[in-house]
Amino acid sequence: MSTIGKRINDIKASLPKGVTLVAVSKFHPVEALQEAYDCGQRAFGESRANELVAKASALPHDVEWHFIGHLQTNKVRSIIPHASLIHSIDSEKLLRLVDSEARRIGRTVDVLLQVHVAREETKFGFTPQELDDLAASGIIPSLGNIRVRGVMGMASNVDDETRIRQDFRDIARAFDNLRKTTGIETLDTISMGMSHDYMTAIDEGSNMVRIGTTIFGEREY
Ligand SMILES: *Cc1c(COP(=O)(O)O)cnc(C)c1O
Repeated sequence: MSTIGKRINDIKASLPKGVTLVAVSKFHPVEALQEAYDCGQRAFGESRANELVAKASALPHDVEWHFIGHLQTNKVRSIIPHASLIHSIDSEKLLRLVDSEARRIGRTVDVLLQVHVAREETKFGFTPQELDDLAASGIIPSLGNIRVRGVMGMASNVDDETRIRQDFRDIARAFDNLRKTTGIETLDTISMGMSHDYMTAIDEGSNMVRIGTTIFGEREY
């Protein structure tokens, strides 16, 4: 088996039942994705629209493409036909746009709302308060071509384990509030945890981890 295949199998063996692995393949060549595919991996995460679209045409059709990066409004149209889950809805405007583009081509798109809890100022997403407000506004159920499945978030980029754990806890709480406030039955996904912190994320309630470096090695930008 390939090195990439072995790493995927090792990670999968370490995940509790019910936790989905998204292999974050951004910046890696299609050959690397193909190796992962050949050992059974189907969910791949990409952070740039053009790259996702190019890779989608190079890989088999049963790949599930996850969009995990900041989504610019002028890129929405290009990814809607390919994305099986958009993790990074970070504004009401983007939510409405994804809904209208999905309606235009007659499909329903699964999305996650990105929650911003980390200390870094440049990160995108709704603060927990903004998410509460969106949930209370009644907008979500009025959008017929998106299915909100849950939340995605990242912990602060620090070494402090206590801080990281608290960030994940805050993201999971935002998910609970969203579920309580909206009563939406399709809410079932908490996407949190990357190569260096996914075990902590799972401890705090994650059921979808996004792992790149541990599978594919360092990225060359
Ligand atoms: C790049 C990226 C990941 C993967 O990070 P690794 O440290 O390589 O595992 C996960 N989530 C998001 C949103 C990313 O942009």
